[in-house]
Amino acid sequence: MVEESNLRGQPWAVSLHGGHSGAYCDHAAGTLRETIEAAVLRGYHTIGVAEHAPRTESRYLYPEEIEMGWDVAKIAQDFEDYARELGVLSEEFADRIGVLRGFEAEVVPSGSYAQVMHGLRERLGFDYIVGSVHWVDDVIIDYTQAEFDRAAAQHGGLEGLAVRYYAVVAEMVDALRPEVVGHLDLLRKFGGSEGYTDTPAIQRAARDALAVIRDHGCILDLNTIGLRRGQGTPYPAPWLLGMAAHEFGIPFCFGDDSHGPADVGAGVAEARAYLLDHGVRSITYLTRRGGSLARETAPLE
Ligand SMILES: [Zn+2]
Ligand SMILES: [Zn+2]
Repeated sequence: MVEESNLRGQPWAVSLHGGHSGAYCDHAAGTLRETIEAAVLRGYHTIGVAEHAPRTESRYLYPEEIEMGWDVAKIAQDFEDYARELGVLSEEFADRIGVLRGFEAEVVPSGSYAQVMHGLRERLGFDYIVGSVHWVDDVIIDYTQAEFDRAAAQHGGLEGLAVRYYAVVAEMVDALRPEVVGHLDLLRKFGGSEGYTDTPAIQRAARDALAVIRDHGCILDLNTIGLRRGQGTPYPAPWLLGMAAHEFGIPFCFGDDSHGPADVGAGVAEARAYLLDHGVRSITYLTRRGGSLARETAPLE
């Protein structure tokens, strides 16, 4: 059971990346309804629900999905069901919380992927996209240490992987034009403990990605899952946060990256303090105003 929290009444009580649920994601818990109920209880005024987009090729399925007999058609159907239920729930809860309808794009845009994502967005009437990079040159970087190490080896080590990763982030942003860019230094999940740092080459690659992110007017996901993984800070790390905010003027919004009702709201108060500690005094979020999507700024103090 989720406890009443200190988010209620705060102008910054928003998450734009989260709401993964056991109904539509094999590695999440609870139902979509329970997730939105938890968001109301936690005191969010706006929550963006961004379930993982369907992967369009079987080589991107997770081993446990394959074990369960899932295939591309099954996850495509689940995603249709997700879009429908999210539409129903966003109306049902409209008097208690703003529910935005989104999804998290998954796979490096290669081939037709970006077109498929734009098609889903249009056909199913989504409000927004969270653009994330989970795969670098067809190797997943946030699933197991072994796969991460394989990705690093393919690029001559951690620095090479990080440089390539930020180039892929820039390609993704160009191709998908997402409103929100997810967990910008997700590499820390498995790279952090192995010496992934901000070398000059990594900083250059990150700077190039941030320029593209700024040019597309994206919001960066201040993602609290890094805290739950014991990584000391949310994503992104202080050097990258400072570069994005102070060199590029890119805005942030919180993302609890909840994978079940228990995670909803987790780490957001800490993330607010983290932003303030690094000189960021407001967040920018999305909201529905008169039938269309608008941006709002909320002060953090
Ligand atoms: Zn997930
Ligand atoms: Zn993600």
